Amino acid sequence: MYQEFINFIRKEFRTNDFIPLHAPVFVGNEKKYLNECIDSTFVSSVGKFVDLFEKKVAEYTKSKHAIVCVNGTNALHLSLLVAGVKSGDEVLTQPLTFIATTNGILYSNAIPVFIDVDLDTMGLSPLALKDFLEKNTVQRNGECYNKVTNNRIKACMPMHTFGHACRIDEIAEICEAYNIELVEDAAEGMGSFYKEKHLGTFGRIAAISFNGNKIMTTGGGGIILTDDDELATKAKHLSTQAKVPHQWEYVHDNIGFNYRMPNINAALGLAQLEKLDFFLENKRVLGESYMNFFENKEVTFFKEREEERCNFWLNAILFNNRNERDAFLKESNEAGVMTRPIWQLMNKLPMFENNFKGPLTNSEWLEDRVVNIPSSVRL
Ligand SMILES: *Cc1c(COP(=O)(O)O)cnc(C)c1O
Repeated sequence: MYQEFINFIRKEFRTNDFIPLHAPVFVGNEKKYLNECIDSTFVSSVGKFVDLFEKKVAEYTKSKHAIVCVNGTNALHLSLLVAGVKSGDEVLTQPLTFIATTNGILYSNAIPVFIDVDLDTMGLSPLALKDFLEKNTVQRNGECYNKVTNNRIKACMPMHTFGHACRIDEIAEICEAYNIELVEDAAEGMGSFYKEKHLGTFGRIAAISFNGNKIMTTGGGGIILTDDDELATKAKHLSTQAKVPHQWEYVHDNIGFNYRMPNINAALGLAQLEKLDFFLENKRVLGESYMNFFENKEVTFFKEREEERCNFWLNAILFNNRNERDAFLKESNEAGVMTRPIWQLMNKLPMFENNFKGPLTNSEWLEDRVVNIPSSVRL
């Protein structure tokens, strides 16, 4: 039934072999930098590539600070922690996301509250957010409280789905008005811009992931972005076991974490970052090719919106309903063309059965329809 789609994807990737959803590409200085690491013996969390990678990511994103972590999930956890999220606080987020968003919240012993997304961004809806806040919150001593649960609402964590920007500027304004810290999950957003600003630079602090399936990779890794000097210092301190600098003594002044990215991962990341603009151009060509192909088909290609410059990390198409979606998933995967449905909504997972959720009409609609199709850089 969907043979035409499958043939088109095969034609684009010029292969009869298995086509993964997203595979990393190493065509730059990866081996050179990794060898340098090994030759220098600095393979762990101290080394020149760690500092250099932070500097280069900060430059690229025009963020004042960038602090590396061992993965994106830990980067989210640490971001929430330094933004002041405490045990028992509520964090407003979207149900349509990868589990890591909510795990970051849970590691902070906070409670995720699920607010709907916009259909045209797949990211947190400012309208739904405002509606929730108007109906359910009160301000006490300059902080936002949930009237129903009496918990403090300390942070809001929207996510930029597949590298598409949500209406983050509007969300930032709402958070500001309600005294809520904006912590962006920009895990999928490396190389994506909204109104000429890199994703992850709209709130107080943000995290990006460099997992193997993301647009660029450090093997495993993540990075925190912030313009706030104090938060940056705190994040780096907590990510290195909260060790107080001393020539020989082990002094630790807080509960810290072993979250700092090793030098070998940063070496890989630096080489990948040097190729990011090539990845972005290459993926845009594929995205446009998909967009043209699906123009007059019975599915909808998820397009880049005005004012965003998307990284085209994972291309997405929308089917008319769940049955058609499932039929395509079966047919394509059986034909060796990897496709994936969007995530199951977080509120449906057993851990979150009892969490508050707003009306989730858009999230449910998208859950039934969205499928990712192969999106790797083509050489
Ligand atoms: C990949 C991802 C993360 C977590 O990143 P890891 O590096 O895999 O820990 C967090 N949130 C979202 C939305 C992601 O896609």
